[in-house]
Amino acid sequence: MRRFRAPVVSVFLIAALTAVPVLAPVWGQASAADTIFIGQFLTLDAAHPQAEAIAVSGGRIVAIGSASEVENLANNATRTVKFFGVAIPGFADAHIHVAGVGEKLETLDLSGLTKAEILAKVSDAARSAEPGKWIFGGGWDEGFWQPTAFPTAKELDAVSGDHPVVLTRIDEHSTWVNSRVLALAKISRDTPDPDGGLIRRGAEREPTGMLVDHAQELIRSIMPKSTHADRERHIRAALQQFTRWGLTSVHDAGVGLDTIAIYKDLLKRGELPVRVYVMVTGDNARAQYLASGPEPDLGNGMLAVRSFKLFLDGALGSRGAELSAPYSDAPQEHGLQLLKDAEFAQIVQDARKKGFQVNVHAIGDRAVARALDTFEHGGVTPAERFRVEHASMVADDDVRRFVHLGLIASIQPVFVGEYSRWAEDRVGSSRIHWVLRTRDLLNAGVLLAAGTDYPASDSGVPIANLNCLVTRQSAAGKPEVGWYPEQRVSVDQALRMMTAGPAFAAFQEKDLGALTVGRYADFTVISENPYNVPINNLRSLAVRMTVVGGKVTFEAAGK
Ligand SMILES: [Zn+2]
Repeated sequence: MRRFRAPVVSVFLIAALTAVPVLAPVWGQASAADTIFIGQFLTLDAAHPQAEAIAVSGGRIVAIGSASEVENLANNATRTVKFFGVAIPGFADAHIHVAGVGEKLETLDLSGLTKAEILAKVSDAARSAEPGKWIFGGGWDEGFWQPTAFPTAKELDAVSGDHPVVLTRIDEHSTWVNSRVLALAKISRDTPDPDGGLIRRGAEREPTGMLVDHAQELIRSIMPKSTHADRERHIRAALQQFTRWGLTSVHDAGVGLDTIAIYKDLLKRGELPVRVYVMVTGDNARAQYLASGPEPDLGNGMLAVRSFKLFLDGALGSRGAELSAPYSDAPQEHGLQLLKDAEFAQIVQDARKKGFQVNVHAIGDRAVARALDTFEHGGVTPAERFRVEHASMVADDDVRRFVHLGLIASIQPVFVGEYSRWAEDRVGSSRIHWVLRTRDLLNAGVLLAAGTDYPASDSGVPIANLNCLVTRQSAAGKPEVGWYPEQRVSVDQALRMMTAGPAFAAFQEKDLGALTVGRYADFTVISENPYNVPINNLRSLAVRMTVVGGKVTFEAAGK
């Protein structure tokens, strides 16, 4: 048992102190514990890997050790919470779209469905909706269909009546619409492809009904606008969902001022149940933050705004990811450039001057190389912790450059599910080993933070992501042998990528990512010790309790 007053000291000092037994009873001078949690703790702290109890004061851990000793420290006002199961440092998601998760709960969920099933769902929705009402859905993936061709407006027209229908692909980088939407948006054979976008076309240049990357903006102005109230409802619903999934911290990968205002409001009301690390996106929001500066901690580590999200390319499934050589299944395509080098370099320098982190979306090998080039030529240092979001396809030489430049790869292990369905078609067998090469990145010493990109992926559930890292199976357990199983990592490595990794990627490693005295009391209680379960059973782990800053944000019914 090690006890300390709650000093805010560096992790290095804590590590040094915890390496030797400290018996001095300094507890008496410390502020009294609000809460004592008793159960089994795996701390992910090398100096003190297991514990039976922790004491919490003001949201932070003030003592950690055996149950009898920590229990002795309770006074009359102290609440004691006993739990069954195993507590690990709280799960973080380094890349998720919070409002999108809430919105998905209100639209047609097309994940994992065949085309016939999707058309039947749209047909049902069209029959029950008021005349002319828009129908939205998302999560479709042609990888589940036979054949795996991109869909068309005509197929939707047959079931949609007079309703405009907008169905986003699983990656959210392309949208399948019906002819009603094409007509309302005046998209015809004469409409040019916008910069960084593609209108898929058939015979005579006629649009087929699929809009890729920036071409999706052609329909934005005619769609019913989601209001501030809609967005707040979506965000609240998503945050509640996260607590059930065991998340204690999320990095919201690209939001504007409206969403930031909602977070600030929720924080002020004490209604933010999950820590949020914001990536600011959009010219307006960025300009405003460049003028006012970063907000690294808006309240006990609950909300931080200190990073910018940029997009260099699209997504691999939609063939928008920028490749250095053409797509294997479309030899005339090599993806889209959503941001040009010169503008990107300028934003990077503006951000650095004001102390903002830059988190850049780059999926294709060419986009990843462009990110590395721009950071390198711009003189970005490891201390700035710039991130490449996704880094889904990294050429051999670029793996070493990540290490050399001290850049963080913000990866989405759950992509294994969708990529196993079509990535090899897209890039061919000679480049497939560049794709989702988690183990290679880890072995080379690249700093890794894991997230899910949900709802732009199969699942936002941390246990599913853990399973993908360790088994290389999809959230649904496919393929059985794992997709390129040599890229699997151990349970321990996976847990660190989901806790310490995101903490470091958000400059929060002194406060989050492990259970030690001085850090916030953020932990997730799961049904079994993940180190002891056979890896094929990892998917069946259940979340029993979620705790953020010593407050229980979720507790499963029953015991
Ligand atoms: Zn994303």
